[in-house]
Amino acid sequence: MQLVLRAAQLIDGTGRQPIADATLVIEDGTVKAVGGREVTYAPDTKVLELPGCTILPGFIDAHVHLTMPPVGDSFKVIMSESDATTTLRAAVHAKKTLESGVTTVRDMGGKNYIDLALRDAIAGGMIPGPRMLASGRPVVMTGGHGWPMAREADGPDEVRKAVREQLKAGADVIKLMATGGVMTPGVEPGSPQLTLEELKAGVEEAGKAGRRTASHAQGATGIKNAVLAGITSIEHGIFLTDEVIELMLKHGTYLVPTLVAPYWIVKKGRAAGIPDYAVKKSEDVIEAHLASFRKALAAGVKIAFGTDAGTPFNEHGANTFELELMVENGMSPMQALEAGTRVSAELLGIADKVGTLEPGKLADVVVVAGNPLDDIKAVREVRLVIKEGRIVKEK
Ligand SMILES: [Zn+2]
Repeated sequence: MQLVLRAAQLIDGTGRQPIADATLVIEDGTVKAVGGREVTYAPDTKVLELPGCTILPGFIDAHVHLTMPPVGDSFKVIMSESDATTTLRAAVHAKKTLESGVTTVRDMGGKNYIDLALRDAIAGGMIPGPRMLASGRPVVMTGGHGWPMAREADGPDEVRKAVREQLKAGADVIKLMATGGVMTPGVEPGSPQLTLEELKAGVEEAGKAGRRTASHAQGATGIKNAVLAGITSIEHGIFLTDEVIELMLKHGTYLVPTLVAPYWIVKKGRAAGIPDYAVKKSEDVIEAHLASFRKALAAGVKIAFGTDAGTPFNEHGANTFELELMVENGMSPMQALEAGTRVSAELLGIADKVGTLEPGKLADVVVVAGNPLDDIKAVREVRLVIKEGRIVKEK
């Protein structure tokens, strides 16, 4: 079965110039051909004409929490409700995320392995949602960031065991907490948490199983520890020094800035029911965060797209607002679109399947009205979403 899309332009995510008067041929869930009007297809094929639109690879959000409700005190809600309620809501979040054009996510921490069950339910076709890579429980020091839903572990041996537990449960990726964070009371975003030795042990265990790692890391010492331990990506990266940036370049470490997370906490504030400690900490760090992003961008650090969706007012399905913030802070629209597709696929280790529109890749496609290269806000105007060749949203 073939399906053909024809639109004003196509951005394939590879870094090549956009193709004008574009034709995309999809067959059996994969991309069959990409090009201009010269591309041919079987005569009885279904053709969707999308004038004025841009065809893009499906977006890949490398940092979400599908189990978390994006309300003022999301942690409190999730920890006080039943797993059944959390699971049902997570399914709703998954559908919203997919329909916004995000066809793959990396879930960076859920409650009681609900994220893993959700991943399997989506992969098995039981419910609609983005393709998921999931981390299970984040590994944290005792009392560390996110401890109520994490696996607390102290000392390299215990961290090894904690990581092995996540692998046994079926985690695709391992999350390690290198520093404090905004959403846990009494924990400073800048302070280091798991030690270099603990992080090394965790990264090594993950690596033995062929898994990649991500570290929530906000302060410079913790970020440096995570990079030296061989972590695949630094999440948030609020305080990036020149030394840390040099190390990230040397080790090929990715940055997933999640600019949108503190943006909403500061914008909505205490009046919206966000805990005072979270608002205060976010206000304290937001400028440093943006400065770090700009510095990393200028230095050529690999930057992927991630939102932390599920944190306060950071809505599932509004993920691509992050791309707008990336452009506001110095990326070109093309750079932001590539961060949102190919670079994130490379970070997740799935670039052989998704992230670009090239023959043989899975047909994960999003079509937006207008030209996001002229105005990145066009990413809000989703007209069509296709996952593995199947239309999941048409507007
Ligand atoms: Zn997160």
